[in-house]
Amino acid sequence: MSRIPLVDLAASYDRHRHAIEPAVRTVLAETRFILGREVGEFEAAFAEFCGTRHAVGVSSGTAAIHLSLAALGVGPGDEVAVPAHTFVATAEPVTWLGARPRFVDVDPATGSMDPDGLKAVIDRVRAVVPVHLYGLPVDLDAIGALARDAGVPLIEDAAQAHGAEFVHDDGSVVRAGAYGRIGCFSFYPGKNLGAFGDAGAVTTSDPTLADTIRRLSDHGRVSKYEHLTVGYAARLDTLQAAVLGAKLRTLREDNQRRRDLAAGYRSRLSGVGDLVLPAEPANRRSVYHLFVLRTRHRDGLLAHLRDAGIGAGVHYPIPLHLQPAYASLGHRPGDLPATEAWARECLSLPIYPELPDEHLETVAAEVRRYFETAG
Ligand SMILES: *Cc1c(COP(=O)(O)O)cnc(C)c1O
Repeated sequence: MSRIPLVDLAASYDRHRHAIEPAVRTVLAETRFILGREVGEFEAAFAEFCGTRHAVGVSSGTAAIHLSLAALGVGPGDEVAVPAHTFVATAEPVTWLGARPRFVDVDPATGSMDPDGLKAVIDRVRAVVPVHLYGLPVDLDAIGALARDAGVPLIEDAAQAHGAEFVHDDGSVVRAGAYGRIGCFSFYPGKNLGAFGDAGAVTTSDPTLADTIRRLSDHGRVSKYEHLTVGYAARLDTLQAAVLGAKLRTLREDNQRRRDLAAGYRSRLSGVGDLVLPAEPANRRSVYHLFVLRTRHRDGLLAHLRDAGIGAGVHYPIPLHLQPAYASLGHRPGDLPATEAWARECLSLPIYPELPDEHLETVAAEVRRYFETAG
């Protein structure tokens, strides 16, 4: 157990228990465990938060991506553009549907899908799934324009970006999950909005797509025992919806606290060793799901921090195109150089709303100490 963990779910529970416990007790007392009132209430509140007309609660972020691709008719013979530097769940559902992920290299500055890499494959793909990595929106103007010109739907993997904002050239602001045809969110416990188990949501302003995704999540059913299509068992639990509804109320301030912590790291770590701090282009507001540094001394720094009781992490050490699971695609090291450099050099520092200022101070001091002594 680290002295300063990478995430602290106990601290989060402590801060929210006064709101969560009565909401959970109500669900238990009413026993409406499947599609109870809290599911619809949470969906409405989350759609409003994201700025979309609809949100559909589902069983996980992975299910959100799966149902979205299925609703758009992705299937055998199709290719779907996915960044190579992400969690595997961005790509898995593509494979489940019999389609093939087309791994795209990432922008060296931000680690998210490189518009130039996408440009090279856009004419071949059936859908594009960029990831708002670490809480920072991708370059939505560039990626959105490519997808639009090619007539290909954009599905935002917003699993790490609840509340992140992108400012268009005309000054208008869009939140993660509200730009593309569909946004996919995870409420995995450690995410910016976390449930007490697996949960997720799909956001869209297209009512037909929302209906299709809702139906697919619930056995393709149109009434209790009438099934229009073969669907899935991927509903959002009422208990999780109750937890999420309680925690959503503080998400804005929680995200602001993450931004303040990021600013704290930034001022203490700029110019230290060969560290590259997270980029935040002027037109994008990150919600800092993770605070990710880059250094050529990653493994040494990681070991130093862990010895000091600090729960640093690596997101992600093995690029998707080089995973054993995707060996059949025939990629070789060197195919996606920017992705591979991120995998070698990235290191995540603890960041969560409950992280005390003193802990941030300690983490930053240990990072500096590493470069003063060993680096
Ligand atoms: C967490 C995550 C997912 C998957 O979400 P689950 O709720 O764990 O299924 C997908 N994509 C990214 C980028 C994630 O971080």
